[in-house]
Amino acid sequence: MNEKTVLQITNLTKSYGQSGFQSQILKGISLSVMQNDFIAIMGPSGSGKTTLLNILSTIDKPTQGSILLDGKDITKLKNKELSHLRRDKIGFIFQDYNLLDTMSLQDNIALPLSLNGVNSRTCIEKTTALAHMFGLENHLKKYPYQLSGGQKQRGSACRALITNPEIIFADEPTGALDSKSSRDFLECLKAINEHRNATILMVTHDAFSASYAKDVYILSDGSITCRLTRGKDRKEFYDRIIDMQASMGGDFS
Ligand code: ADP
Ligand code: MG
Repeated sequence: MNEKTVLQITNLTKSYGQSGFQSQILKGISLSVMQNDFIAIMGPSGSGKTTLLNILSTIDKPTQGSILLDGKDITKLKNKELSHLRRDKIGFIFQDYNLLDTMSLQDNIALPLSLNGVNSRTCIEKTTALAHMFGLENHLKKYPYQLSGGQKQRGSACRALITNPEIIFADEPTGALDSKSSRDFLECLKAINEHRNATILMVTHDAFSASYAKDVYILSDGSITCRLTRGKDRKEFYDRIIDMQASMGGDFS
C-alpha cells in the first residue's frame, strides 16, 4: 500500500463579497489525498464544490488555509511557478470538456505535451496509447464537432492524463452526458485509478458518479460532514450513499 500524501488541505476557507456583507462558502475544509486515492466530494448545487475545486487547481485563491501539493504550499506560488504547476502536476476535467474546436482529438490530447516542447513522435505514441485505453483509437483524426459528448469527455480525460500529473481534478465530469456515456466514462476513471495508479479528486452532486469513487466525502454548509468508504460492490455503495443523502434530508439535484 502506497501512503504518499499528494494533497494536504488544512482549514481552507473562502468568503465572497465586501466586508460586512460577506458570505462564507467554505468554512474550514481539511482533507488529505493520498496517492492512488479516488475521492468524490458530494454536495448539493450551490454547496461550494466548484469553488473548492477551483481553489485546489489554483484557478482561484482561498481566503485562508493552506494547500500542500507534494509538500509545497500552492497558495503561495507566484505566476510562473503556478503555470508550471498547472502544466506539469495537475490534470483537469471540466463538465463541458473544454476541447479546442480547431484541433483534432489527437492534437487536443497532446496539447499539454506539445506546449512543453515534446516532439511530435512522442506526442503521437503517448496519445495513441491513451486513446486505446479510452476506446478512442479510431477517432483521433476527428474534430470535436464530429464526436459525441462521451467521446469528447473521454478525450478530455486523456488530455488530463497525458503528462502523468500528480492529481486529476474533475468537476461534475458526467454533468452533460447521458446515462450510458456517464457509465462508460466513470468506468474509464475507475480503470485509470486502478491500472495507472492515477489519483483522482472529483466533485459531483450525483450519487451514481460518486459511487465509482473509493471514498465519498459530503460537503454540506461549507464543511465536510461525513465520509463513506466503498467496499467491493459499487451498487451496495450507491445504496449507502442514497441512504445517507435521505438521512440528511437533502435534495442533491
Ligand atoms: P457548486 O459547484 O457546489 O454548485 P459553487 O462553488 O459554484 O457551488 O458556488 C457556491 C456558492 O458560492 C454559490 O452560492 C455561488 O453563488 C457562490 N459563488 C460562486 N462564485 C462566486 C463569485 N465569484 N462571487 C460571489 N459568489 C460566488
Ligand atoms: Mg459546480
